[in-house]
Amino acid sequence: MRVAPESVLVAVVGGVLVAGTLFPWEDQMNPQTASPGPTMSARGHDITPLSAQRVAELATALTPEQYRVTQTSGTEAAFCGNLVDTKDEGTYYCVVCGLPLFSSGAKFHSGTGWPSFWEPFDPAHVTVKSDQSHGMERDEINCARCAAHLGHVFDDGPKPTGQRHCLNSAALVFIKMGDPIPQRSQPVTKADTVQTAYFAGGCFWGVEHSFSLAPGVIDVQSGYMNGKTGSPTYKDVCAHGTGHAEAVRVVFDPARISYEQLLEGFFELHDPTQLNRQGPDTGDQYRSAIFTADEGQAAAARAFVKRLAAQGRFSQPIVTQIEPAQTFWPAEDYHQDYVVSTGRQCHLGTPWWLKQSPSGVAH
Ligand SMILES: [Zn+2]
Repeated sequence: MRVAPESVLVAVVGGVLVAGTLFPWEDQMNPQTASPGPTMSARGHDITPLSAQRVAELATALTPEQYRVTQTSGTEAAFCGNLVDTKDEGTYYCVVCGLPLFSSGAKFHSGTGWPSFWEPFDPAHVTVKSDQSHGMERDEINCARCAAHLGHVFDDGPKPTGQRHCLNSAALVFIKMGDPIPQRSQPVTKADTVQTAYFAGGCFWGVEHSFSLAPGVIDVQSGYMNGKTGSPTYKDVCAHGTGHAEAVRVVFDPARISYEQLLEGFFELHDPTQLNRQGPDTGDQYRSAIFTADEGQAAAARAFVKRLAAQGRFSQPIVTQIEPAQTFWPAEDYHQDYVVSTGRQCHLGTPWWLKQSPSGVAH
């Protein structure tokens, strides 16, 4: 039976239960202030700002001119860039991080000597900030994902926007329509670039909320898995007759978070040593389980648990089940986003992505 989460605190620390009182999550996981999950643009790209460390890594692949322009706000000489006169159909991507920035359909001949566009690929893919350098007042444009300097935007462009995005060729990579597009430049919502993982770690409200805050996680849903009946309801599952576990389906971008990193967080946020319970919630629907989508996940999960056991991180044996995933039955609507919509929280440990600063160093 579920205990109202505000009446009991059970923190899970290394397999040892520590009881306390009242609103524990305000210290560590306030749903209103916790760092947000990934930011997606309307065109389906992950535009969560990259950490300075990641940008520095990417910048090592740049030519000196690309580096000067994008990382030190340089400007290339007029009429010297290689993309001034490009008329082919295609898309212009950030040379640093690969985010699509401008489309050939919005390119126009400005006569300025720099590639010019009347609108970005997606308004959320570029950011604009005031630039007072060189005795001028201009609006600088940057890549929204990696903050690369791109150029400036002016109000003397053609209709329909009246804007002129004045770009440095060195900040862009042009890919002709029909040519292959690297994975980092594709929308992450494309089915072949995302993967799915399933975890059961007690009450799904908090597990869902925790995973939803992880970098690289695109969608999390609460549901019921690996029971004996079809289309179970919450009532069915609570009555212990169906054998389902409260589980979450985690859709993630493997380019930004690995399955092992999800496993790491999973073992931090719940107690894998409790059999058929998590803190105050008892019953087989609260069992600790990893439901694997394929043999690769199964092997990774088994190896991870073996490693954890060898490290002796928990004082009791790990009882987490590792089983092939059966049908995921989404839970009733009122269970989805429960923590955010109600401000309530379940007993939980803190996964690694909430131990780091909200400024995005986890990315
Ligand atoms: Zn970029």
